[in-house]
Formats: sequence, structure tokens, C-alpha cells
Amino acid sequence: MTGVFFLLFLMIAMNFFKISVVENERYQAMANDQHFGSILISAHRGSIYDSKGSPLAKSASVYKVFLDPRQFQKELKALQESIDKRSKEKLDGTYKPKYDDDGNELNTLPESAEAFKNEAIDFLSEKLGITAEKVSSAMVENSQYSILQDQVEKPIADEVLAFFDEYEFISLNVEEDTKRYYPHNELAASVIGFTSAGGDGMYGIEAYYDDYLAGVDGKTISAKDSNGNELPYRYSKTYAAKNGDDVYMTIDTEIQYTLETHLEEMVTEFEVKNRACAILMNAKTGAIYGMATYPSFDLNEPYEIADTAAAEKIAQLTGDAATKATSDEREAQWKNKCITEIYEPGSVFKVITSSAAIEENLIDLENDSFYCSGSVTLPGAAPIHCHDWGGHGAQSFQRALTNSCNPAFMEIGSRLGVDKFCYYYDAFGLKEQTGIDLPAEGVGIGFEAENMSPVDLAVSAFGQGDTLTPIEMITSYCAAINGGYLLQPYVVDKIVDEDGNIVLKNERTVRRQVISEDTSEKVRTALGNVVTGGSSGGNVRIKGYSIGGKSGTSERLSLDKDEYGASYVCFAPVEDPEIILLVLADMPNADIGYYGSVVAVPTARHIFEDVLPYLGYYPAYTDEEIEELDVKIPLLEGSISDAKDTLDGLGVKYEIIGNGIEVVAQSPQTGSSVAKGGCVYLYTEKGNNVEYAVVPDLKYSSPEVANESIAYCHLNYVAKGASVKKSNAVVNSQSIPAGTRVPFGTTIELEFIVNENQD
Ligand SMILES: [Zn+2]
Repeated sequence: MTGVFFLLFLMIAMNFFKISVVENERYQAMANDQHFGSILISAHRGSIYDSKGSPLAKSASVYKVFLDPRQFQKELKALQESIDKRSKEKLDGTYKPKYDDDGNELNTLPESAEAFKNEAIDFLSEKLGITAEKVSSAMVENSQYSILQDQVEKPIADEVLAFFDEYEFISLNVEEDTKRYYPHNELAASVIGFTSAGGDGMYGIEAYYDDYLAGVDGKTISAKDSNGNELPYRYSKTYAAKNGDDVYMTIDTEIQYTLETHLEEMVTEFEVKNRACAILMNAKTGAIYGMATYPSFDLNEPYEIADTAAAEKIAQLTGDAATKATSDEREAQWKNKCITEIYEPGSVFKVITSSAAIEENLIDLENDSFYCSGSVTLPGAAPIHCHDWGGHGAQSFQRALTNSCNPAFMEIGSRLGVDKFCYYYDAFGLKEQTGIDLPAEGVGIGFEAENMSPVDLAVSAFGQGDTLTPIEMITSYCAAINGGYLLQPYVVDKIVDEDGNIVLKNERTVRRQVISEDTSEKVRTALGNVVTGGSSGGNVRIKGYSIGGKSGTSERLSLDKDEYGASYVCFAPVEDPEIILLVLADMPNADIGYYGSVVAVPTARHIFEDVLPYLGYYPAYTDEEIEELDVKIPLLEGSISDAKDTLDGLGVKYEIIGNGIEVVAQSPQTGSSVAKGGCVYLYTEKGNNVEYAVVPDLKYSSPEVANESIAYCHLNYVAKGASVKKSNAVVNSQSIPAGTRVPFGTTIELEFIVNENQD
């Protein structure tokens, strides 16, 4: 007996142990579920603003519509009972219908509970945009909470509530929820990111700063009786929600828009197949003012395929292939390609090689001479060509950098040697994340010193063979020119809570000093000379601004031979750099153009022309620039002799049309610019027939030829881009197409480029 009792006791004790200790949490949860109900109070998600306080992401109230199926079944049953009762009363003659003032019967009931249910299914599926099956299966669920639809706008939520209110059903209800709106649609899409249907940050700032933006949900907890019904209010407790913080970016909407507009122009003109990227950053602090990836997508419709060509291709697929292609395409469009994808930098990398060699005192800037015969053959390897196959001959370091000469940089690379080259490669942060405050940052792939051959060293020295992300490139280049400081770039300036307290403030963060201030000064001066020094780098020139820069063209070795990456990194002012810009066109159509100096440089110039004045940098002209400054044409109406004097003073010619005694009209109009030596047409008779000219085709014309043709056609021009004083400058584009009929005197904008020594 004792033995049997002991065994029984042991079994009971073990069960107690199992319930109270081992499975404690499970039973606790079951108990709580029976005794407590809770209603979620959603925290309001914080907004995202640009650097000027203009909203880029905001949340608005929407509603989650849900059904309590058990309650619904009870209510249906009660409704049927009322219907049955009333039909019995009608039969008995005891039912007294009531009418409103217009004679409509009040308190009518449906034909049957089943009929009401079917009507409700149709109504809900139509209003909420869900299938009838979804509604009908929710109605028979054995639960108290079944979500029918998320993110329902208020008018629809009100209609749905009113429908159920007619027969006093309380089983259908709504919960307030939030919806995210992005007022600028595509602008900075891959930087801002978006939220999932559940409201969690996905991609970009929405993901990186989700903890700040999300806030903390609150809830009301109420006790339930033994049947699971909620007890009255006095047994409940409410924990208020803590709303999310607001994020203020360093990105300026105006600058971002400028970047995206000019990237789009570049992609269209050069039929860029892969990606186009642009980053504009403060060279002293690392604050990013603009970061663009083209093509972009609409943050309000992130799941839609923005690339119409890709969308058409997907439309022809079916089943798994279609599903996979859609998800691949979405992933691709959501990516911030400025920070996630790697590329071969090409000659832009010569800035890093130069910095390392100058820091190590391996280059005599005054006396060194680098000889280029057009190619170099290293033992056991195929010849490595300079992009000028004829060779650059003997050159100083400055000339070699301006020429972007590969053999010269192979020599500089060999002076550094594998160990020092790799040391600086690492020091400039090219094999590590920059630490930018955005998710999914990629990392470049560089050689390791122990397995780097002489050929690897030679090609790496001029930027071929290693890969890095655009953000790594601009950050390392920035260190080369800003005094040597490798910065941590950032896109968020500050985060502010709902009471206005600053809870996070990003500031200049120096990761390390890579080269000395002295070396950096030499590097930025040399890069300034690249722009003024007559090579294709001069294409970025903007009169009145001191700009330094280096272009690059890399072969995409991983792909077919004819695929290139064209890029440019430039900065201003040269003496004390504050603004730095990277432009990358990955896989332009090589038949149209693939050199960095042809594809990326003009785009960079267009961006700087817009952004530098916007940021408060005003032109300061050199004496040489003053000489070639354009002339703004004033109002000349009135006395002919006054007009003549004015134009003589401005160095502009004139021609008088008509026999009147006063100037009554002029071309070009007041405020237009013309190059010095241009001609203004003065009309002296009212109703004079305007004389017309046909715009000539000036593409590839030298400055002299362009000047002559324009004058011959009675037109005017202003020159942009490379200096017209460079012997090899030619017209790259004209603002009014050839063949257009325009009035005499009209000003055409000509963009000059230097076509030699392209890289
Ligand atoms: Zn060369």
C-alpha cells in the first residue's frame, strides 16, 4: 500500500512541477487570455523632414476593420429570433408598425438573418476590396477577432460601421491605425525607404531609424469574467502610447531634385543601362545634401514596378517565373545603389594613389618625369595600354594626373610597392563600411597584400581590378582633399521627440586621419589644375568658380568587353573644399559615349551650376574670365545714339533695321546674354517685319568656326563648359536644335568640351 501511494504521490508531484515550473509560461498565458482582454493603442509614427523642414514622410489616420465572429454569430441568431417573433406578431395582428414623418416604416427587419448575412458579405467585399470568401469564412471563425482589412480610409470605415449599426450589431468594429504618405513620391526614394503594411520601417531611413520613428504602442487592459466577457471600465487600466520621434535629414529637397533631374537627363542622353548615382556631400562634415539613384520608384506605390520595360517583360511571364521576376525587380528598384552596389572606379582612383605616394614622399612634384610610350609590358603579361595609345611622352606628375596617364600611375604604384599600396587602400576605408546611417551598406573588394602580383599592383594603381561602393569612393576622395580626414557620412541631422527635445544629433565624425594636411593641400591643388589645365577635366569648368576634379572610365571586367562605368568626382572651392560631388553612369551605350569626361563631367557641371549658387557660393572671376565674360543686354528702346553708346561701351556690335528715328524693339531681348563681340539688332519702325535666321548645326565645331557661323547667321551665343581658348575645344551641344527658325539676334547656348585625352 505504502509503495502504491508513494508512486501515486510521485506522479502527482511531477505533474505539479510540470504545470507550475516547466510549462508555467504557457499556462500563465492561457490564464491571462481568459481573465484579461487588451485593446492596442497605436503610437503615431514620427515624420521625416528634409534639412529645411519640408515633410518627406508623414502618417495619417486610417482604420483597421475587424469582426468578432463569435459575437456576430450570437447577433445573427438574435436577429433571426426577432424576425420570427415579428412575423408571429404580424400573423396575430398584434404588431403595430411605427412610421416617421415622411410615412416610412421604422424598425423594419430583413427577410431573414441569412439574407442579411449574404447582403453583408457582398457589401463588405465591395467596400473593403476583399473577396466574398474572405468575409464569409471570417464570419464562421471560432474567434473574437478577425481582421478584414487594413488601412481603410475614414469615410469607408464610417459607411461599414453604419451598415451594421442598422440592426445594432456591435460585432463589426474598427481600430485606428496609421498610413504613411510620401508627399514627394519618387524623390530620394531609396534613401527615405518605406513602411510595410504592418507599419514597420523597410529600407532607408524608415528602417534604420525605425526605433525612433515607431514610438511605443500603448494599450488598455481590462479584466474578463469567467465566460470571457469584458468586465466594466473600473477594472481596466490604460497605458498611453508614446508617439514616434521626428527625423530631420541633412538632405535638401532642392538639391536632391537637382541631382535626380540631371541624372535622368544623363540616363536618357547616354542610354545608361544599369544604374546612375549621384552623391553630394559636405566635404568638411560628411553631411549628405543629396543622394540619388536613377531609376527611382514611387514610395506611395513601392510594390509597383517603376521600370516600364521591366514591367512589360514580367507581364508576359506566368506562375513562379512571374513571381520571381517581380520580386527580383522590386528588390532591385528598392536598393540604394549609392551604398549597396560596387563598381570599378577607374581613373578617379588615381587620387588615392597620388595621395599615398605624396604622403610617402615618393613623388618630386617639381622635378620628377614620368615617361609614357603608350603601353607597358610587365614580365609574363600582355601589354597594358594607356588610353592614349600614341603615348604621352615625358610628363611631370601634374601633367601625368591631368593626362590621366596609366603608365605613369603604374610607375607610381610600383614606387609604393604592394605593402604600402595595401596599407593606404585599407587606411582610406575602401574595404570597410563607411558607417553611414542607412541599412544594407555594401563593402568594396580589394586585393590582400600577400596575393597581389605586380600586374595586380599596376592596374590597381590606376583604378582597375578593385571594386568599391560609390559612398566609399566619395568618402575616401573627400579625405584626400579635406586635410586627410576620413569622415563618417550621414543623412540624418537630428531626431526630435514630440515635446521638441533633441534626442539624437549627428555631427562630424572623423574615423581617422589618413594623410597630412600638407599632402592633402598638394592633392587638391593638383586636382584644381586638372580642371584648369586643359585636359578633358576642363569640361567641368564653370566661370567664376574654382573647381577640382578627376574623371574615370572603367571597363566592367565582369561583363562583356563593351560595358563601361563612367564617373566623375569634383569639389569646390579648391582652396578650402566644402562641397564634393560624385556622378556615376554604369553602362552607358558605348556607341553614344562612355568616357567619364564625356558622360559624367557635363552632368556634374550642370549640378554644380545649380547647386553652388543655391548654397550661397557666388562667382569670383579671374582676370582671364572677366575678359571672356558674357554681356547682359540692357533695355535699348528710345534714342538711337544712346543705344549705340551703350552697346559700344559693352563691346557689342549692332545693326539697325528700318528708317525710324527711335529704337522701338530689339533682339535679343533685355536681360539676354551674348558673348563679347556679339550683335544686337535694333528695330526703328513699329510693325517692322522681324527678320528670321535658321540655326546652323554646330556640333564638333571649334570655337572659331562656331563664332563665324553664328555671326554669319545673324545670331548670338554664350559659351559654357570647357574654355574656348583651349585649342582642342569643340561644341558638344547647342541649346536650340539646328534647322530651327529664330529671330535675328537670338542667343544660343553652346556647350564646349575638350575631346582629347578622354578618360
Ligand atoms: Zn600615357
